[in-house]
Amino acid sequence: MSDFASLNLLPSILAAVTKQGYTTPTPIQGQCIPHLLNGRDLLGIAQTGTGKTAAFALPILNRLAKNKIKTKPARVRSLILTPTRELASQIDANIKTYGKGLNLFSTVIFGGVGPRPQIMAMSRGVDILVATPGRLLDLMGDGHVLFEQLEVFVLDEADRMLDMGFLRDVKKIIAKLPKKRQTLLFSATMPDDIARLATSLLKDSIRVEVTPEEKTVEKIDQKINMVDRSNKPLLLKNILEDQALKSVLVFTRTKYGADRVVKHLTRASIDSAAIHGNKSQGARERALGGFRTGKVRVLVATDIAARGIDVSDITHVINYDLPNDPKSYVHRIGRTARAGRDGVAISFCDQTEVKLLKDIEKFIRFQVPVDKTHAFHGVAPHISKSAPANRNGKRSFNKNSNRNFNRNGQKSKNGERKKDS
Ligand code: AMP
Repeated sequence: MSDFASLNLLPSILAAVTKQGYTTPTPIQGQCIPHLLNGRDLLGIAQTGTGKTAAFALPILNRLAKNKIKTKPARVRSLILTPTRELASQIDANIKTYGKGLNLFSTVIFGGVGPRPQIMAMSRGVDILVATPGRLLDLMGDGHVLFEQLEVFVLDEADRMLDMGFLRDVKKIIAKLPKKRQTLLFSATMPDDIARLATSLLKDSIRVEVTPEEKTVEKIDQKINMVDRSNKPLLLKNILEDQALKSVLVFTRTKYGADRVVKHLTRASIDSAAIHGNKSQGARERALGGFRTGKVRVLVATDIAARGIDVSDITHVINYDLPNDPKSYVHRIGRTARAGRDGVAISFCDQTEVKLLKDIEKFIRFQVPVDKTHAFHGVAPHISKSAPANRNGKRSFNKNSNRNFNRNGQKSKNGERKKDS
């Protein structure tokens, strides 16, 4: 597929896409849009970053605009279910951008904020509703969202729905949808539960699979920084002092860890913000907004909060902690190679994380190079000022502290890594 003009979209959609600077459809757009315009069901195996939002949003807008009907109160013509509030907001924002001038009405429903404005928005009926499952079920229960006029249903990030424990809610919602409809299911991976769901939901569907995850990973310049756990804050500060790192997403394993990293960076006069589930919706949106516009150079996030963050210019991803699940590693570093861009991913690995690193390398089938040139490679544990002094009034390292460790978790005195087995 060479350009958008050949896709047979309405002129105003074409104009909106051109205004966004999109010249050629991404592979998933090229493969999905013609079938979706023909009303086919679709199974899309693709992760965020591939352009999948436009792949489903453009045909939906085209369909609803070509056949305008008045929505009755509380009715929706198209429902897009997605797992997180951030994704829901982003999809709705994209729909508003692509649908400018079509005179269609879209709205978004998610938890963590008061329901009143959402109920008000629904009262007139909407053409496109983007929602997370929990709040949608609540509003459905109270009769604020009804589906008799539904034509198109999109289940986005189905595997993540499963991971986050939303599958039951999703099934409850699906049970209320009219049987006659167009259905689209997107998932980055295909665990058995999702494959079964796809079989039960889709009729005569086409299957589109784009860029296996490993391929995306290959484009990213990855490195491992072996570092003692206590030196991680100093290493991060050291790396971030280089202003060439323009837009950096730092991942921590826990919400508490994310806050602690921000505290360290603030002390070092490096501007940063944290985004995680304990933050209010307003704080998350402010942090994300600041990051998107470049006001905040460093965003510190946990996996779930960062899922699907749509910021296209992230230059660096730093894994302050390695994730427990190798798939999360792929999702994390994929934030920096969106829409065909390259990026850099630096992963810190301390003694306790060597096993996690091995699991990741097995999963991505690639041994990530170790950067031995960084300032803390083989440096003894950092002793904080509050560390207890010994009898002579001096702070001391433990007897292994001047040793290095290698990826097998084995210590080596001279700082050389032993060859991996
Ligand atoms: P998505 O996978 O939908 O989250 O999209 C990832 C990023 O790619 C977003 O920032 C989109 O604005 C951008 N994008 C989507 N389609 C295109 C396209 N055809 N050309 C260039 N950028 C695109």
